[in-house]
Amino acid sequence: MIQKLNPILEEAARKNRAVGAFTATSFEILRAIIEVAEKRGEPVIIKHSATFEDEVPLKYMGPVIVELAKKAKIDVCPMLDHCKDADYIKQGLKMGFTAVMYDGADLPFEENVKKGKEIVDLAKSADANIEASFGFVGGHKSEKSTITDVEQLMKYLNEVDIDALAPSVGNSHSATEQKELNYNLLKEISEKTNLPLVLHGAGNLPKDAIRKAIECGVRKINYFSNAGIKEIQDYIATTKVFSFASMTNIVVNAVAKDIDEAMAVFSMK
Ligand SMILES: [Zn+2]
Repeated sequence: MIQKLNPILEEAARKNRAVGAFTATSFEILRAIIEVAEKRGEPVIIKHSATFEDEVPLKYMGPVIVELAKKAKIDVCPMLDHCKDADYIKQGLKMGFTAVMYDGADLPFEENVKKGKEIVDLAKSADANIEASFGFVGGHKSEKSTITDVEQLMKYLNEVDIDALAPSVGNSHSATEQKELNYNLLKEISEKTNLPLVLHGAGNLPKDAIRKAIECGVRKINYFSNAGIKEIQDYIATTKVFSFASMTNIVVNAVAKDIDEAMAVFSMK
């Protein structure tokens, strides 16, 4: 069933584990996320990321994510990810998304606060929960990250009332960059803010690094699955007559396996 972000993260905190937040950039990935979460009997966060708006428009994918969240046997939080634009967020909230990630970490402090307040008000007026980043997590293109400054962060949190925090502690959205997490900083941020922490760009982090991050207060892990590409390449290379429909199960199965393994790590099993 459809759920907000806070109850899912509160339950994760009680169980000292984290919940997977997966980006549904195609219907196959969306199907795999729901099937795996239902099979495992665990809650899940399904994200629509504004980063992929050109390839996967909100107007097509948003209503599908929300409808399938409502019908799921487990708790599903449909969440808008990496949003800057208030109108974009309004569209998603109108569709029924129950959480929003505001991404203003690359803005100057005052502007970030001003926009953050505006977006918190928007989310609250729609009874949705809100995550914000502080300290820029780069790597979507080739931008560099900026490590979270704790003093600045506390000033930001005095002004902007968020439910979950995505810090920058050595993580990156890049799939190839070497990542070294600063666990002491994560722990310090967790203790000082008392907020559930979110780890962006966890896709190529080793399992041990993820488990350690969870011990430091990470409750939501953003994981982008790119599984299935090799299998599709092999299929096309070896099959003479094929269709998109015949590729569906190849992608669903590959992504499901990848997500199942990730969820096992996040749930500390
Ligand atoms: Zn991210």
